[in-house]
Amino acid sequence: MSKSNHRKIKCPTCKKETTWNDNPFRPFCSERCKLIDLGQWADGSYRVETPGYSATAEEIEESVRNEKDKY
Ligand SMILES: [Zn+2]
Repeated sequence: MSKSNHRKIKCPTCKKETTWNDNPFRPFCSERCKLIDLGQWADGSYRVETPGYSATAEEIEESVRNEKDKY
């Protein structure tokens, strides 16, 4: 009998099921979830859409927490 190496894991950010193998963002399902978890999503790719307003690190952390609660 052959054993499968394709471990299934759940993304810590969005709780979506993903695979451990062949997943460059593991244990996350995607780069987005990885960045959210690391609190780096304000680092260019994700920005608060308010002109002239820059969020502080604490505000970003708060947003990340709120975003997680949605899922
Ligand atoms: Zn995810």
